[in-house]
Amino acid sequence: MAGEEYRKPLPQPSETSRPFWQGTQARELRLQQCRDCGKRIFYPRAICPFCLSEHLDWVVATGKGKVYSYTVVRRAMHPAFQEDVPYVLAIVELDEGPRLTTNIVGVGPEDVRVDMPVQAAYDDVTPDITLLNFEPLLGPEMN
Ligand SMILES: [Zn+2]
Repeated sequence: MAGEEYRKPLPQPSETSRPFWQGTQARELRLQQCRDCGKRIFYPRAICPFCLSEHLDWVVATGKGKVYSYTVVRRAMHPAFQEDVPYVLAIVELDEGPRLTTNIVGVGPEDVRVDMPVQAAYDDVTPDITLLNFEPLLGPEMN
């Protein structure tokens, strides 16, 4: 994508979420982990949603997980996504536990399945922002 003008909405990293976005630039999926209850947390926040602790550390996740649920978007909700339809909007459950909303790339919408193993895929959309998507961990064996 480098060099092209990027027209889609971009994330605006905050003080809380900046380590996550620095992670995607480094090809790392970073999660927060609570120092008090041990739970891993996504999305980034200032307080543990499980025990209200403010003691959150950043850890590097495997970047692997599975499709928990998905839908195929056939009508763009924003003009900038018009050229992408149909595309897959999914909830991926990471091996570490947290679920996140993402896109599944590198596979046709018709080949996505619930429980399909996936891995992080990074897309440098601007010099400052690298988006996190997911792609099949193993190639689709549908042929
Ligand atoms: Zn906690």
